[in-house]
Amino acid sequence: MTQVTEGVYFIQGQDEMIPDSHVYVVGKPDSQDLSIIDAGLMGKGSYKIQSILNMGIELKAIARIIMTHTHLDHIGCLAEIREKIPWAELWVHDTEAGPLEKGDERTVYGMEMFQNMCMMQYSIKPGAFTFYVDRRLQGGESLDIGGMTWEVLHIPGHSPGSIGLYNRMEKILIPGDVVYADYAIGRFDLHGANGSELKNSLLQLAKLEVNILLPGHNRIVTELPAGYIAETAKQWAPYLT
Ligand SMILES: [Zn+2]
Ligand SMILES: [Zn+2]
Repeated sequence: MTQVTEGVYFIQGQDEMIPDSHVYVVGKPDSQDLSIIDAGLMGKGSYKIQSILNMGIELKAIARIIMTHTHLDHIGCLAEIREKIPWAELWVHDTEAGPLEKGDERTVYGMEMFQNMCMMQYSIKPGAFTFYVDRRLQGGESLDIGGMTWEVLHIPGHSPGSIGLYNRMEKILIPGDVVYADYAIGRFDLHGANGSELKNSLLQLAKLEVNILLPGHNRIVTELPAGYIAETAKQWAPYLT
């Protein structure tokens, strides 16, 4: 785990055949009110927890886990992480919270073929990704957590309840799988995905001033060129209908 800036820590995903999402830990170290953003792939829970401990962060300082969205590569090890921090609340966008509580796993797996393959390979039982959600995010909230302010942006398209977290003061964006480095964007062919919504979400993000881009996979960018997200949206617009 490395520190991106004060109050923002980065744990690189350990991809296997299936990618493992990055995890970010946000909040000022002495706030005792830290948030984990996303969990990762099945089997990666102890790696993520150990990375947090290695930074000298005490688990009792972690108050919640916020999901950018509930795809398998982000939620796979949520139960493993919660075993170590059972007091941590779970915050998810409203659109994906409902299915998550009901055990409707279509968004988690994204497509049936993938679901069958994963359940076999990882011996996952049906209903394994059923969770109570402590707070349903709507988008538009301004969260005062861990001594910092993070705005919640509802940015559907990659998944129906995708959110971004934006720190206006430091110009930091955590966009989940909506936009990556190198002009890449999240896929838009899975359950609940929608190309034209993704285009609108990219255009919404393009209005923000972003210096630090912390996506769910691949490289993080600490000196993002001005207009980067607008340019990415422009390049992809013909495909996002
Ligand atoms: Zn995703
Ligand atoms: Zn992902």
